[in-house]
Amino acid sequence: MSSVSYGRGNWFHSRSSSSIGERETILKLVQASKKPQYSSLRWSGDKTHPLAIQFANEISVNSSTMQTKIRAFIRFGFIKESHYCPLELTTLGGIWWDLHTQEGDKLKGYANLIEGLILASYLSIYSFDSRRYTINPTNSYCPIYELLNNVDSSGFISVSDLEMLIAEHSTTSNYNYWKKDLLRSQILEEVSGGFRLTNKFSNLMDAVRTVTLPSTLTYSDWKKIHKNILDDINPYKNTILQDLDTILSDILNIEVILSQEEKEAVSKVISTTDTEEANEIGLGDYKIPHTYSKTKIRRKQSAWSKQVKNAYNYTCCVPECDIQSPILVIASHIKKYAAHETETGHRANPSNGLCLCPICHTLFDKGYFTLSDDLRIVVSPRIIEINSPRIIGILNQSNNRVITPLPSPTSFKPNLKFIRYHREKVYLS
Ligand SMILES: [Zn+2]
Repeated sequence: MSSVSYGRGNWFHSRSSSSIGERETILKLVQASKKPQYSSLRWSGDKTHPLAIQFANEISVNSSTMQTKIRAFIRFGFIKESHYCPLELTTLGGIWWDLHTQEGDKLKGYANLIEGLILASYLSIYSFDSRRYTINPTNSYCPIYELLNNVDSSGFISVSDLEMLIAEHSTTSNYNYWKKDLLRSQILEEVSGGFRLTNKFSNLMDAVRTVTLPSTLTYSDWKKIHKNILDDINPYKNTILQDLDTILSDILNIEVILSQEEKEAVSKVISTTDTEEANEIGLGDYKIPHTYSKTKIRRKQSAWSKQVKNAYNYTCCVPECDIQSPILVIASHIKKYAAHETETGHRANPSNGLCLCPICHTLFDKGYFTLSDDLRIVVSPRIIEINSPRIIGILNQSNNRVITPLPSPTSFKPNLKFIRYHREKVYLS
């Protein structure tokens, strides 16, 4: 058994990617699936089970339709493959959801692009094996590969050529489903007499066109990739991430006009895929050169920030500060981010960070306190300039007390060279 088959011929029959309205409905179902009463429901099981009927009623459909819809969303990569509630969004599905659900229209266009990327990514791993379709693109007739190699030099393909290309290993009746999905994936756009490649997701499309996929990947490998398109073993993973980066960089370009809520959503989206950057930091690569893309910079900052906050259990590290809320704390550079990057790097070095509340962060940044070599708080005599008895009180009570990062192996003590830099260049002595 070398492929996973999903039934005969009509691979898009009633399984075609859906309209936006339908996607919103299915996401209501994802939310409903988290209700405790459905926790043990096998949604793909007995359609007449009262709980399955009740679950389907959450989106006002019958349980058979509910199953078909969920399967389609799994097939196209919005929902993780599982037969049980709760349903979970995939990484890309979650990114789409976070952008799509923002008030206003500024992020909606980007959500739409992410949808296209999700569909394009999943279409790229399907192939036909006689009249079945499988999730292994090395298996036989890979439609996206054929399409990319059958357009003319301007990226054009006529209606009849596309029809033929689809009919070759499938049934002619599939043409409309195909057309719909290729258009919704934004790989193609409709033009007079046919279709043209859009040049969106160009990294992924180039890879599909040119990269020879390793024949070593097994049935269970492709199943794993289908479960998580960003799995390390997916040969297309990096190109999908590059195309995602292009979209996210565009969002960062308009960030200045976004509301606070939208900005937070964008930060959340960018930090969703920062694992690679966290690995870099773990391997001791602390540099953030200016040649990095905006998204890569944000991801590495986000990974750094998580590690610093984690080291102090998400509380302000000034001993007497009473701000304990994880929502309020920020990771603060000891040696400022903007300082010239040396050979070893300080920007993403977790030993160049303190977890502080916004007030303590401002005071530290302006030099109203620093640290001694043995990690004690040293309060500046100029603290009296702060016209707040409460804040002065907290700082004075913390004076000469040791800050204590968590004693875990993942924790990072501030490095002396950064502390000395702060003491000499920032501290108000
Ligand atoms: Zn504080």
